[in-house]
Amino acid sequence: MGKALIIGAGGVASVAIHKCVQNSEVFEEICIASRTKSKCDELKAKLDGGKTKITTAQVDANNVEELIALINEVKPDIVMNLALPYQDLTIMDACLATKTHYMDTANYEPEDTAKFEYKWQWEYRERFEKAGITALLGSGFDPGVTGVFSAYALKHHFDEIEYIDILDCNAGDHGYPFATNFNPEINIREVSANGRYWEKGEWVETKPMEIKRVYNFPEVGEKDMYLLYHEELESLAVNIPGLKRIRFFMTFGQSYLTHLKCLENVGMTSIEPIEFEGKQIIPLQFLKAVLPDPASLGPRTKGKTNIGCIFKGKKDGKDKTYYVYNVCDHEACYKEVGSQAVSYTTGVPAMIGAMMILQGHWNKPGVYNIEQFDPDPFMDALNKWGLPWQENFNPVPVDEYPSEEDTKKVLETELV
Ligand code: NDP
Repeated sequence: MGKALIIGAGGVASVAIHKCVQNSEVFEEICIASRTKSKCDELKAKLDGGKTKITTAQVDANNVEELIALINEVKPDIVMNLALPYQDLTIMDACLATKTHYMDTANYEPEDTAKFEYKWQWEYRERFEKAGITALLGSGFDPGVTGVFSAYALKHHFDEIEYIDILDCNAGDHGYPFATNFNPEINIREVSANGRYWEKGEWVETKPMEIKRVYNFPEVGEKDMYLLYHEELESLAVNIPGLKRIRFFMTFGQSYLTHLKCLENVGMTSIEPIEFEGKQIIPLQFLKAVLPDPASLGPRTKGKTNIGCIFKGKKDGKDKTYYVYNVCDHEACYKEVGSQAVSYTTGVPAMIGAMMILQGHWNKPGVYNIEQFDPDPFMDALNKWGLPWQENFNPVPVDEYPSEEDTKKVLETELV
């Protein structure tokens, strides 16, 4: 059916590439291109021999001219951007210049400011429309599947959604005292920033990790979770009409938080360059170099992830709640594609997003967030390609579990 140029050969790309190869009817040909070509060649060596034809290339995705030359050579139907958020705009520029469809899993973030937002990519709308090509933004899990879940809830279960809580639980244990499950630089930038949620048309800012809840996740059990700002809040607040509040919670273990606090206190999470032995270094990038490579966590990680959305709103004039989630097992993911569940839950939706465009379900010219498309073919594909979802029409709301009293008790216990 089509040809994809995949940029990046890290944790997420590796899963997406495994899935493209499993789905050779749609992905007849793929070219894997990244900064370090040997990683692309390793993936090719592992996966060659099936029906999907695989080629590899070296590219610096910060360089638009290099990207244009590569796209002109490979002539893909779509570019799958699975590099880092810093490369989003250069890759979009190259797609515009070559009239090629684009997709990614994370919104643009300038390398020198920890400020990720959609405004830069939304500015490309008119140009993509005029060029007759589609840009699909945020086709991972969160953002990604959480947006598809929202569109699905609105289409099938509600007349109006008033409240959304996105709950991201990773109960995986890799046995290290401190490691991040995906790119440490991106991960730490995300969790050390202020929290933020959207209520009654306004953003409410919190200190990092200021708001804590405890939740009993299906198939996982009780976990502490903290309110964070997460990029899909920005687009869902705009794209779900009538929304009164949207929040995002992520689980963290106490050991992770204690290490992070300590690293922050000594300045290791800073993105301000410092001089070290006559050389400018960025502490956070140095920290990334000393931490375990997320790809190496795969064989060590046990346990499950549970990511989903709880919706509250109105149907036929009555109050209604609905929880839709996916549970993913780290060891099962590793057995299937050689990666843990965090890369798996992002790489599978990346393949599905590209498939939606290649199959023609989602190709309308312009720049779109994932919730702006028909969720049904994507929801079907989740069940087929390894991320089956489950529903609960009577979930315990986040603020009711456990009672305020119990939460206070948990906090007091920690202080002792
Ligand atoms: P990794 O660090 O494992 O991989 C990034 C890849 O991009 C590496 O192969 C790297 O090359 C390559 N790369 C970096 N810079 C360039 C460049 N200038 N030119 C070409 N290639 C480059 O990251 P992950 O796989 O964990 O994450 C990939 C993306 O997925 C990120 O944008 C991340 O934010 C996003 N993500 C999204 C999630 C979601 O649910 N939506 C969840 C998790 C991640 P090299 O090998 O040389 O370093």
